Amino acid sequence: TVRVRGLTKAFGTNQVLRGVDLTVAKGEVVVIMGPSGSGKTTFIRSLNFLETPDAGSVEVCGVEVDGAQAASSRHERRKVQQIRLKTAMVFQSFNLFPHMTVLDNVIEGLVTVRRAAREPARQRGLALLDRVGMLAKADAYPGRLSGGQKQRVAIARALAMDPEVIFFDEPTSALDPELRDEVLKIMRELANEGMTMLVVTHETRFARDVADRIIFMEGGYVVEDAAPEAFFGPGASERSRQFLGQLH
Ligand code: ATP
Repeated sequence: TVRVRGLTKAFGTNQVLRGVDLTVAKGEVVVIMGPSGSGKTTFIRSLNFLETPDAGSVEVCGVEVDGAQAASSRHERRKVQQIRLKTAMVFQSFNLFPHMTVLDNVIEGLVTVRRAAREPARQRGLALLDRVGMLAKADAYPGRLSGGQKQRVAIARALAMDPEVIFFDEPTSALDPELRDEVLKIMRELANEGMTMLVVTHETRFARDVADRIIFMEGGYVVEDAAPEAFFGPGASERSRQFLGQLH
């Protein structure tokens, strides 16, 4: 379970998050949509403290961190580490290490953070690459892969840490349309297997088919929290209809 209370964040005078509350239950898939600049990326990065909130709190699987203290207090910093061990992040820009093979990218966290022995980590890495259809590229370097292939490796890397929840920040935005489906297909499979997922995306079909709830953010707030049938249906709010109209 993820529980966020009253999260705020400003960059200088730019107040990006103005008090965001959100609860995601175990096994739930929640999609976050909203116009450019509405704070979606800042919000999802705050959940594992890649951004430090100004106020509010984040709780993941029973570990609660006071955002205002996250950087300063030793006690809170230790809890931030615990949250990072329970979560994984998939970025728009993949963030693979260019000087490491695909397999080494996948098992890096297992070996360095989890201190797993190399051979079992390798076996697990290979199994995960197989699962995302990338086993044949285990020894390749990321520079030789398409964007869709890189993102599939990044998902395998996230899964290697055995997370309780995965945060996706616009995972298909950097991909050509024909490469998006191979990534979305894997995300669908994860959702069907019961993975808890929080996904910032503009992919309306994925949101409609896979999400349990859609969160609509604007102006630093959650302005709508609805089931997909309601969000995409005839009874949707004027604002979300206008937003969806602009996407097409
Ligand atoms: P998009 O859909 O375009 O990715 P978004 O909803 O994810 O937008 P954010 O990326 O969270 O929005 O950005 C929200 C605001 O915060 C923007 O005005 C952005 O310029 C600002 N911002 C984000 N990160 C930083 C930073 N590190 N330093 C200063 N300003 C930032």
